[in-house]
Amino acid sequence: TGFDIQEVLDQLGLEKTNLGASTGSVWLQTKGEVLESKSPVDGKQIGTVVQATEEDYHKVVEKAQAAFLQWRKVPAPQRGEVVRQLGEKLRDYKEPLGKLVSYEMGKSYQEGLGEVQEMIDICDFAVGLSRQLHGLTMHSERPGHRMYEQYHPLGVVGIISAFNFPVAVWSWNTALAWVCGDACIWKPSEKTPLTAIACQKITEEVFSDNDVPEGISSLIIGGADLGKLMANDTRIPLVSATGSTRMGKSVSEAVGRRLGKSLLELGGNNAMIITPNADLNVVVPGAVFGAVGTCGQRCTSTRRLIIHASIYDKVKDVLVNAYKQLRIGNPLDENNHVGPLIDTDAVAMYNAAREKVVAEGGNLIVEGGVLSGEGYESGCYVAPAIAEAENHYEIVQHETFAPILYLMKYDGEVENAIDIQNGVKQGLSSAIMTTDLREAERFLSVAGSDCGIANVNIGTSGAEIGGAFGGEKETGGGRESGSDAWKVYMRRQTNTINYTNELPLAQGIKFDL
Ligand code: NAD
Repeated sequence: TGFDIQEVLDQLGLEKTNLGASTGSVWLQTKGEVLESKSPVDGKQIGTVVQATEEDYHKVVEKAQAAFLQWRKVPAPQRGEVVRQLGEKLRDYKEPLGKLVSYEMGKSYQEGLGEVQEMIDICDFAVGLSRQLHGLTMHSERPGHRMYEQYHPLGVVGIISAFNFPVAVWSWNTALAWVCGDACIWKPSEKTPLTAIACQKITEEVFSDNDVPEGISSLIIGGADLGKLMANDTRIPLVSATGSTRMGKSVSEAVGRRLGKSLLELGGNNAMIITPNADLNVVVPGAVFGAVGTCGQRCTSTRRLIIHASIYDKVKDVLVNAYKQLRIGNPLDENNHVGPLIDTDAVAMYNAAREKVVAEGGNLIVEGGVLSGEGYESGCYVAPAIAEAENHYEIVQHETFAPILYLMKYDGEVENAIDIQNGVKQGLSSAIMTTDLREAERFLSVAGSDCGIANVNIGTSGAEIGGAFGGEKETGGGRESGSDAWKVYMRRQTNTINYTNELPLAQGIKFDL
């Protein structure tokens, strides 16, 4: 692997066998099935976790509820100070945590470090926010009255996360939720349990130094069943769920039945439009990184290129050449561009998608394939593929979480490309490559991209924490991270105060006694 995994585990305080539930500094004696974490990098077992049971889940929720009642009374800037210290601690642990992310999930070491950097950035953002959780003041229609709104802490927030951003998504939620005065319970992906335990241990150090009530940061490790318990639990006013659209529909239905709130960050089917006015120096790295970075396992990965017919052949040739340069292998070796898929199930889905696109009439111009032999023993390494396809193909309409890029043509004006790009069920990220101001503005206009993220001369993947992150349609409509995404973690209250000795009613209603 190029590093000593035992040293990394020691630095992060992980054991070979770990407990799968914690309320902060207390680790529950879980008795669920043992979960094995195997690295897709080399197929070796990294460690095991004794999963949480339903009984453990209820203990954790009770603790979180009690802790919330105390935490909500701590002034927000003081909560911000705790999050500031967490950001500092993450700086100390950036290297080992980045390595473990890379080794357990399979993304490149640079991306592992980048993910931890995002955690640090959101902590910094949240610290400032802790003094800015403000509402508006309105003018009352009644004389001698004042009207304003304020935001109060919401309660216990349940966080369900996906394997592909095993640590950043947790901190996007928790850093904000904690300054907002909430308690958080995290159910990470069962594919990346060890990075989750590492985060919990880092948080534990900071929280115990600051006497944060036990239960503000809780962790429960297990499968979809635990996620379902959260979704159905009226003690959890907000469930923030990141993962597949299938999972999001299930969570949303359960939370909706009890009229709770959900924040959904689901699958994407992201396209890049390449117009005749595109600068190919920007297009090529943008498209290739977007399609093959993280081995195509980002929610914002580029799945479709919509290329103007007049430049189609040229772009295609450049891409095919660029794909020949890709080095696939151990993601901890910085010379490699592409690491493994998460597991062999993902490899099977990649293979099925390549077959399906051909069966539907597509043409694999970069064939891809599963790699074997030295360095590829885990069976999770695949070569990125490119297929010429049409947007209406069922497989193109579907998000395959693997490095398969579909090329399609458009004729005439940019509106034709926008129609294709919007012609899928998902609505996460989108990009246009053009140096023409009018084309760019049409893409960003009311009649343009229908996605939550729309970029100009930038690929579809890679977002900054300062903006609100999320997408429309089957991507779920949630927004996390920057801008005013914090509001979902609080409850809004409108207050009207009468400072006269009369009681005028709104809308001038008369009610004389
Ligand atoms: P997944 O849906 O299989 O699992 C995600 C999480 O949901 C896991 O923790 C899992 O245990 C839990 N879960 C599964 N079914 C559940 C249910 N019925 N009720 C409650 N919880 C349930 O997703 P994955 O394979 O880990 O991740 C890949 C997917 O995540 C892709 O579709 C990707 O686009 C999406 N994703 C989206 C974003 C975003 O911000 N929009 C970010 C990262 C990943």
